[in-house]
Amino acid sequence: MNFGRYLEKRQPILFQTFSNALNNSRLAHSYLIQGENGTPLKETALYLAKSILCDHPNPLACEECVTCERVFSEEYPDLIVFDGEEESIKKDDVESVVSLFQKTPLESKGIMIYVIHACENMTPEASNALLKFLEEPTPYAYAILTTRNKEALLPTIVSRCEALTLFLLPREESYNEALSLGVSQEDAELLSYVINDGPSIVKKAKDSQYVNAKTAFLDTLDGLSSNPSQTRFTMEKKVAKSLGDKPTVRYYFDFLALAYKDIVSRKSGGKPYLPSYANILDAVAEEVPHPESSLLSIMTLRKEAESPINLGLLLTHLSRVLTKE
Ligand SMILES: [Zn+2]
Repeated sequence: MNFGRYLEKRQPILFQTFSNALNNSRLAHSYLIQGENGTPLKETALYLAKSILCDHPNPLACEECVTCERVFSEEYPDLIVFDGEEESIKKDDVESVVSLFQKTPLESKGIMIYVIHACENMTPEASNALLKFLEEPTPYAYAILTTRNKEALLPTIVSRCEALTLFLLPREESYNEALSLGVSQEDAELLSYVINDGPSIVKKAKDSQYVNAKTAFLDTLDGLSSNPSQTRFTMEKKVAKSLGDKPTVRYYFDFLALAYKDIVSRKSGGKPYLPSYANILDAVAEEVPHPESSLLSIMTLRKEAESPINLGLLLTHLSRVLTKE
């Protein structure tokens, strides 16, 4: 299923709203897409950008033409994308958009678009600069912002934008869809908790951020079950090597939290979260007297990992937490 089909079938309100706007040439100059954790916010923002620029829209992006391809690979010169999940967005970033958008578009379409994903991760100075820019829209410029936390945005930014919402699907649906699209059970189990749609799970399963997070996750479980007294060493020598950027660290903590939820749940006769990992989780459970308190600590460290972090220090804390060193 391509992404347009996903939106049409699973997010019909957003699909209809945006299709109508394009059909009737009534696009707003700024959109704010909001959605819970796991919803494909960035993919949707890029898809809407594609739909505005596509050579053969029907009414949304065809996903086959040269322009759609170039937008997808972020090689379209009149499109700028900032990702607040990779690093926080600063005033300089917004100012670079403003100065670029004062120039004429490079492409013959004469349209410029900027996407700011996870715009809650903007510094206050960047928010103010963005607000000023939104207040004086350029006729050929469009803004597509996304957020998982609307409350953290300046209300004046929210009110300047037309709102679009992505709704969460039941987890089972994205899990089954991922399986039907060829994702392995192991990967579908982990990813369907952090990503809420089949096509994005397929893409993520091959992505190095996920592959590295999973390696770190399995190395951690392996170390905890086979050699718990050496956990700190495992963290330093193995786990740290797989964890580079923030999204990878985030996935790693999410998977670890899932593993401990699984242990807690099964201990009290509940359903497993990660049935494919039952063997290794059984082995870890034998070494963990109080999985509930480990789980709480993992969640706390997961939050800390959102601010600028010293990875080495974070992993030292984690190994203490997991082994009660
Ligand atoms: Zn196209």
